[in-house]
Amino acid sequence: MYKVAIIGAGVSGLSMANYLEKNNIDYHIYERRTQNDLKGHGFILPKEGIEFLSNIIDINDLYTKGRFLKKYLHYHQNGEILSEKDLEDVFVVSRSTLIEILAEGIPADKISYNTTVTLNGYSEKKACITINDTASLEADVVIASDGSRSRIRRKTFEDEKMKAVLENEVVNIIENEEIASKLDNNFLKFHHEDGGLTFGVLKLSTTKILWYCQFDITRFFINEDYTPDCIKQFILDNFGDWNPLVSSIINDSSYENAHIWRVYELEKLNPFYHENVVFIGDAAHPLIPFTSQGVTSALKDSFMLTNLLMEGNTLSQTFEKYNEERKAEIEIHINNGRALLNQFLLPLNEQQKNTLPISYK
Ligand SMILES: Cc1cc2nc3c(=O)[nH]c(=O)nc-3n(C[C@H](O)[C@H](O)[C@H](O)COP(=O)(O)OP(=O)(O)OC[C@H]3O[C@@H](n4cnc5c(N)ncnc54)[C@H](O)[C@@H]3O)c2cc1C
Repeated sequence: MYKVAIIGAGVSGLSMANYLEKNNIDYHIYERRTQNDLKGHGFILPKEGIEFLSNIIDINDLYTKGRFLKKYLHYHQNGEILSEKDLEDVFVVSRSTLIEILAEGIPADKISYNTTVTLNGYSEKKACITINDTASLEADVVIASDGSRSRIRRKTFEDEKMKAVLENEVVNIIENEEIASKLDNNFLKFHHEDGGLTFGVLKLSTTKILWYCQFDITRFFINEDYTPDCIKQFILDNFGDWNPLVSSIINDSSYENAHIWRVYELEKLNPFYHENVVFIGDAAHPLIPFTSQGVTSALKDSFMLTNLLMEGNTLSQTFEKYNEERKAEIEIHINNGRALLNQFLLPLNEQQKNTLPISYK
């Protein structure tokens, strides 16, 4: 039986572990963070993402912990409505909730937290990894799901180039029943008329809302200490005079858990495998925010990789097929993401109408 090491317990690593668990393939998952360190943001999931999740989790449990969105409402910064679109089966949930639900499917003895893994090299068809700079292990298969800045990927493809994307985000989840009561289950997005600056709001529950801003890093500057006070100042400076809903949200928010997402992308995708190391999720393909496809793509990677592993071909045949099939689709999302980024940078009157912030194939 293979010894499979999964590196990283985000959505991709945990979904992979759930599939291996269901298919009785032995594995161990290693995660750098502590079990309860689940700060962060939220996910917008299109229908396909929900379908993949229903293979591995109790989907009704998820439905009680997030919301389906009814409409996408697109506003000018002053509150004038520009367009609206019905949304079909688009769901929003906090990252911590989804990670907790996915982790419930993994037996405690198969996951190690506080554990950082590095790749040392290969010997006799095994991948040699080091755990917390002390213990070594030889794995038949390493599934690298260690995120967009993957150490395993950078060690494997030393010449790769990552570049900063022109847009960054601030994401915040706040508890505020009063504001939540004013929001319907819609996705509201406000745009600056000169482009390059947006503010989005979604309701997660009767007491919780998620808001985020997207900004052009060549025109809007945030103090790089990224403390809650710096983030608050940045938000108040740039959105303080927007319509009353936006200003009430930013004034009544706590900034303790506000998250800054500095976005990077690979200049060129690497192969999604090397020898017996295979990459899934952001480790294979960091995606820029506009597509809302990071989670769904991660879920699809683990679904397809598991199916291919179960076909019983050699590892190299399995990985080659996985690489071929997934890469073609990921390239589409990358191109869609870049097109949406270019739209975002334009003044409102030059942007296409009715553009949904979701990338479909
Ligand atoms: C602010 C923000 C908002 C987003 N919004 C959306 C959205 O609305 N919809 C959507 O689909 N996507 C969204 N995304 C993208 C989405 O978060 C990612 O595409 C998705 O979570 C990828 O999951 P992953 O498991 O591949 O990587 P990650 O979630 O990055 O998980 C990687 C894990 O590996 C661990 N790790 C890293 N290095 C090591 C190591 N050496 N050893 C052990 N463990 C390690 C990390 O601690 C982490 O837990 C958003 C991302 C951000 C930052």
